[in-house]
Amino acid sequence: MPKAELHIHIEGSLEPQMIFELARRNGIALPYASVQDLRSAYAFTDLQSFLDLYYQGAGVLQTEEDFCEMALAYLARAAMDNVVHAEIFFDPQTHTERGVAMQTVVRGLARACEEAQQRHGISASLILSFLRHLSEREAFATLEQALPLREHFIGVGLDSSELGHPPEKFQRVFARCRELGLHIVAHAGEEGPPAYIWQALDLLRAERIDHGVQAVHDTALMQRLAAERVPLTVCPLSNQKLQVFPDLRQHNLKALLDGGLVATANSDDPAYFGGYLNDNLLQVFAATGMGVQHAWQLAAHSFEASFAPAADKARWMDQLAEVFERFAH
Ligand SMILES: [Zn+2]
Repeated sequence: MPKAELHIHIEGSLEPQMIFELARRNGIALPYASVQDLRSAYAFTDLQSFLDLYYQGAGVLQTEEDFCEMALAYLARAAMDNVVHAEIFFDPQTHTERGVAMQTVVRGLARACEEAQQRHGISASLILSFLRHLSEREAFATLEQALPLREHFIGVGLDSSELGHPPEKFQRVFARCRELGLHIVAHAGEEGPPAYIWQALDLLRAERIDHGVQAVHDTALMQRLAAERVPLTVCPLSNQKLQVFPDLRQHNLKALLDGGLVATANSDDPAYFGGYLNDNLLQVFAATGMGVQHAWQLAAHSFEASFAPAADKARWMDQLAEVFERFAH
């Protein structure tokens, strides 16, 4: 079925094979003997254990071409899963703090978005994410660096180590981003408590919550998310690999949908968590017994929750209806 992907970190699509190729090309030494050796290091116990490897992997990215190739590889792979639209997170601070220029990052990624439209017919836009383990002052500096490239990204997000870094820490920089007309999203309620989701809504004015699976522990929050149709970008295989739901059969995606929430399914960091979007869907459906109605909801929600133009959303909804009609016959 056609669908949008709204929670994908482009640095998390960097496959071990490409890490080795880029390391060779850029003359960077890796602490792993082989691709297999690196892959076998992907045994995570929580969010931080993943982030440590993720930042190390991103260290091989140096040139505009590197960023373009990485994003083109993801978009080609997503198109194979019939993803028709992707809103892609990038973490500029992971690169600028290594001495890579902001424009190298943004121009490379933006070029990939344009080329993928022509090559694969997939539409894509970029969302700049602030690293929440760094300070708000550093987030402001990052925003300033990115403003000359404003035409290339549609919004801002908040990611990295959640616990101990509540949304309130970034209240002022998000207020500035709203003034600039940027869309606002934030990771909240992955490992962190429901209070972080309330803060993302009330203090940052997030239009979507990334993850948000901890909302089920707060009835009033569930009611608000449903009533205001605030989308959650849920990532099943990520939650399994990072031990949020160690057993996929315990995953609450079905409960979120049945509770009337605008939940969507996404791959988060597919190179690290063992699957792109269709793998996420197949595995979570098999584990939790969701049915055809849930599949339709997930795809329809992904379009509703996207920041794409209304005309595009209407066209994709028609394509979705066609697929389900054919399926019914
Ligand atoms: Zn994420």
